[in-house]
Amino acid sequence: MAVDTMLKIALDAGHHRYTSGKRCLKSIDPAQTREWVLNDRIARLVERELERYDCTVLRVDDVTGETDVALASRVQAANVWKADVYVSIHHNAGINGGAGGGLVVYTAPDASPQAKAVQRAMYERVVEHTGLKGDRATPLASARLYVLTNTHMPAVLGEFGFMDSTTDVPIIRSDRFALQAARGVVEALVQVYSLQEREDTMTQERFEAMLAQWLRRQEQQPESGWSRMSEAAAAGFTDGSRPGAFATREEVATMLVAALEQKAAGV
Ligand SMILES: [Zn+2]
Repeated sequence: MAVDTMLKIALDAGHHRYTSGKRCLKSIDPAQTREWVLNDRIARLVERELERYDCTVLRVDDVTGETDVALASRVQAANVWKADVYVSIHHNAGINGGAGGGLVVYTAPDASPQAKAVQRAMYERVVEHTGLKGDRATPLASARLYVLTNTHMPAVLGEFGFMDSTTDVPIIRSDRFALQAARGVVEALVQVYSLQEREDTMTQERFEAMLAQWLRRQEQQPESGWSRMSEAAAAGFTDGSRPGAFATREEVATMLVAALEQKAAGV
């Protein structure tokens, strides 16, 4: 597929590394993991998992986390690039050390049917992979969030669990959760936009074909100057060809018998 027809995905890890207040609750996570760190980890994995598909990804936040890219700049980057879909990754708060929480995916109140399709697919696929269903009354929510109302393409914002929930924090801090969540996001995009796997993706069939070709090349290697091989050939145990090839049990037996016969004959 040509580059200009590939699906363009704008990916936004919310906030930046030093955003004050946006972090896990100290009583649950003494390290007080920052929200951007969690957002970025999922965003990176989404980008990595999307490499298998015919699409292009633009990170609209600062991937180093050093600068807090303004929401207007994030949105403008996606609009100028003419992204086909905007995915913003966040983590929630508001439980204050209580239990419960879970995933919430937002669209704008006037979201297009396609944005709502991404919202639903993202919620369903992420819950399916992570189990982070939670107890939210409205997990498919709408809100006038800046990145949802100012983008010119379908846009969704996922809150991947609560950073102040005793039940969510141990889950959302794990690498396993981040990978499962990313797979859920990617599957949702694959589902809604019918993304196809790239032709250069390594498949089982391609791997086997490459392995067979490599083995054939090994067998066809010219006679090497390896002295042991030359000695064995001179002694009549082998014809000296295909030094890189495996010997069959029969060939090994033939060589052993030849060696024993020579020994018996006192050669
Ligand atoms: Zn956030």
